[in-house]
Amino acid sequence: MPGFSIRTYGSAVLRKRCKPLKKITDEDRRVLENMVHAMIASKGLGLAAPQVGIGKRLVVMLAGSEVLKLVNPCIYKRKGRIVMKEGCLSFPGIFADIRRSREVQFGALNEKGDKLKIKAAELAARIIQHEIDHLNGVLFCDRMGIIDKIKMRKALRDLKKQTESSK
Ligand SMILES: [Zn+2]
Repeated sequence: MPGFSIRTYGSAVLRKRCKPLKKITDEDRRVLENMVHAMIASKGLGLAAPQVGIGKRLVVMLAGSEVLKLVNPCIYKRKGRIVMKEGCLSFPGIFADIRRSREVQFGALNEKGDKLKIKAAELAARIIQHEIDHLNGVLFCDRMGIIDKIKMRKALRDLKKQTESSK
């Protein structure tokens, strides 16, 4: 089974707003399974479908020792603010402090279509916020503070060039 390759900054698919799934097919379940493999192989904590070139609202993530496969995830409650160092598989080698909600409650469907309601704090809360951003075409570099944006400008520009020239 061919694995997914991770799209890096500069890929047009990372800027698309993904469509919600109306129903979950076997193909979607295969995509989720392959996304789990790609996430683990790349030592990531979460992965969103556009990062493997698929414009659907699918996310996989680690929550403690569990792997969650999420369809149409949506945050409906937020509490507190916290700044933490963050990275992204689509931005290899780039890390920055990002301010996000400390706790979130979110809804999603699992791969069978059952409704999930999940409360997440700290790292898990951060991961789901980062991944839902991906589904909306929002990248963590958009949320960097001005100092990091200036510091990372060259690295970001180089990565974008590299992505564009590898097409
Ligand atoms: Zn990411």
